[in-house]
Amino acid sequence: MNILIEGIDILTADPAAEFIRNADIGIADGRISFIVPAGHVPEDFRPEKRISGRHRLAMPGLVNAHTHCAMTLMRNAADDLPLHEWLFNKIFPMEDRLIDEDVYWGARLGVAEMIKSGTTAIADMYLHMDSTAKAISETGIRANLSRSPMEFHSDGELKAIDVFGDCEEYFRKWNGSADGRIKVYIEVHSTYLFDTVSLRRASDLAKRLDTGIHIHLLETAKERKDSFEKYNKSPLEICAETGIFDVPVIGAHLVHISDEDIGLLKKYDVNAAHNPTSNLKLGSGISPVPEMLKAGINVALGTDGAASNNNLNMFEEMHLAALLHKGIGQDPELVSARQAFMMATANGARAIGLGEETGVIRAGMKADLILLDMDKPHLVPMNDPFSAVVYSAQGSDVDTVIVDGNILMERRELKTIDEERVKYEAAEISRRLLGV
Ligand SMILES: [Zn+2]
Repeated sequence: MNILIEGIDILTADPAAEFIRNADIGIADGRISFIVPAGHVPEDFRPEKRISGRHRLAMPGLVNAHTHCAMTLMRNAADDLPLHEWLFNKIFPMEDRLIDEDVYWGARLGVAEMIKSGTTAIADMYLHMDSTAKAISETGIRANLSRSPMEFHSDGELKAIDVFGDCEEYFRKWNGSADGRIKVYIEVHSTYLFDTVSLRRASDLAKRLDTGIHIHLLETAKERKDSFEKYNKSPLEICAETGIFDVPVIGAHLVHISDEDIGLLKKYDVNAAHNPTSNLKLGSGISPVPEMLKAGINVALGTDGAASNNNLNMFEEMHLAALLHKGIGQDPELVSARQAFMMATANGARAIGLGEETGVIRAGMKADLILLDMDKPHLVPMNDPFSAVVYSAQGSDVDTVIVDGNILMERRELKTIDEERVKYEAAEISRRLLGV
């Protein structure tokens, strides 16, 4: 459908033209076909739908570079615990009870929440990933999905099961599907769940399929300590040695990293997904983001799963990422509003392997954009648009969401998801998982 957004201010995430006032945006065939001064629409453009830009701000849809969408089912179910106890004693037993249909509804709930708070692309790794792919395909957002080649079950002790064949089959089934909205990477949970043999096999598989890897890296001090005890090496050295870093990588967390680790991230061009809320909530620590940015590492933002956040609202992550490092470093110049905005948009798209397609509002890019309702007391006067988005705006200010040229939300009404049904199904499933 051809869409014309009329008379709107645009925060583009394109360094060549960061803020454009009073423009018209034309959308055709899923892409941004032009951005022109208001009233200068090419004569041959025939819009089927017009959207007023009055009191609105257009910006790229946010990119959630690390999440586990269906963990919405475990929201508010196990909180205020250390990561290992939380993961092994609370989350893994609940996950053992999950069936495909649960993940389908949990993922739909997660997507509903993310569309309503302005996210248009995600990187997700979880269980029963066919269900997540189905939910992504039907709801219209864009995703980098990864399925693990190893499965871990925890009835008493942790058992690892080889499912490399299923992992490859998942890639062949979903990569490039949903009109190209789904990209598939390989999930490697972490260097503490995978041994070096499986790490090597996973990197070989990624190379053979010409794809990337999504992995949790150095989330806790314990992970670092255990790795040095077991290998006398940092998890990042293990990744470099086993070929994990030879392919594009989304490295989630990167909290407990040394200067040597930052050198490795830079050397192998590893993308960092910073998850400030999750890291704070699980008491994991604070990632040295200013140091990574200074070293030229591509830093993106993620919410992590709703079991450790406990929402999937990227506006909160942007806000926190911009504030946290100023406080810790006692320096108000660390992580500017502009940097936080870029982390949540262009950097995020690049991190999840979609930098050529999305993350920026520019003619030729995919039409993945959101409109904020700026006619609110907390957004007047707007003044600096980066500050307005990062320091003042809320996820609930997102009014309209467009992905791949399709309107997924208009005036806060979801177009591809029956919100009442999703809330009902997910709440029922959650009750069963928790045994209440
Ligand atoms: Zn995670």
